[in-house]
Amino acid sequence: MSTLARVVDPEAVAALAGPSARLAVRVPASWSGRAVEVRAPVRLSCARCDGGGCDGCARSGAFKIELGAAERSFIVTLPERLAADGALVRLLRPLGDESVIETLLLEIRAAEKPSEGVSLHATPSAAARAGTTTILVVLALVLTALAITLAAR
Ligand SMILES: [Zn+2]
Repeated sequence: MSTLARVVDPEAVAALAGPSARLAVRVPASWSGRAVEVRAPVRLSCARCDGGGCDGCARSGAFKIELGAAERSFIVTLPERLAADGALVRLLRPLGDESVIETLLLEIRAAEKPSEGVSLHATPSAAARAGTTTILVVLALVLTALAITLAAR
């Protein structure tokens, strides 16, 4: 399974020329702000032509993901508050470098039941927070060391 998918800003994505796919998922509104695991289907529509066929998808309108179920899964953190019309998240290489997909436009909509292949990821936020805390502690130690060095002069 891929690690936490990176969300990239729209301008950075616009500069990318690689294959871009689109995937729509439904999640319960109560999952807002939580990390979810998404298993992408074997066939993903092309985001550039929306299935019509373009140079990005070799005129097929879609991408066939030649990966196993585990490799097609990625983790993404949902927006804190899901708007009524949903959210659009752009992910950079969510399926890893093995896949042809460079960017994935993930359309997230609130619904009563999650889509097939979408599930809550176990205790991810806590782990993410722990990582952030470690970085802050290290930074604090560096600053302390710097302060001591300066004071010693
Ligand atoms: Zn296309």
